[in-house]
Amino acid sequence: MLFEIGELIRQKPGSAREVEVVEDLADASWEEGKFIEPVRGQATIIRTEEGILVKFTVGTVLELICDRCLKKFPKKIKVAFEQEYLLTSLPAKTITQKEEENEGFVVDLKGRVSFREALRQGILVALPMKKICRKNCPGIRYEA
Ligand SMILES: [Zn+2]
Repeated sequence: MLFEIGELIRQKPGSAREVEVVEDLADASWEEGKFIEPVRGQATIIRTEEGILVKFTVGTVLELICDRCLKKFPKKIKVAFEQEYLLTSLPAKTITQKEEENEGFVVDLKGRVSFREALRQGILVALPMKKICRKNCPGIRYEA
C-alpha cells in the first residue's frame, strides 16, 4: 500500500508522524518461506533534510521449513528497524520497481511512499539462520 505523506514532506526536518502499517506480503513468499499473516505494526516517519527516515516496529507469522525434520512450522517474527527514503521526482508506478531492483528507497513526486520492499527485507534479515520447529526437534524419523 502507498502512504500519503505530502503534508509531512512540507514540514521542517525533525517533524514526525506515526502510522499504522498493514502490508500483505503473501506474494513475496519464496520456496522455503511463506508469509501466512500480513505484516502489522507501527511506523514513525521522521522528516529529514533529504527525505524521510522510517522507524518500523512490525511483526508477522511465516511458515518455514524445519532444517531438522523438514516439516513446515509457523514462526512468529517481531522486528524493529529503520529505513531511509529520499525524495524523488519519479512517479509512483516506478518506485516499487526501483526498490525491487535495489536502487534505493524513495518518496515519489506526490509525496507517496511504499513500505513494501523495506518490510520484506527487514523481515528476511531477522529470520534465524537455523530454522528449527521446536527446541528438541528429533529430526527426520525413519520408520523401522
Ligand atoms: Zn523439526
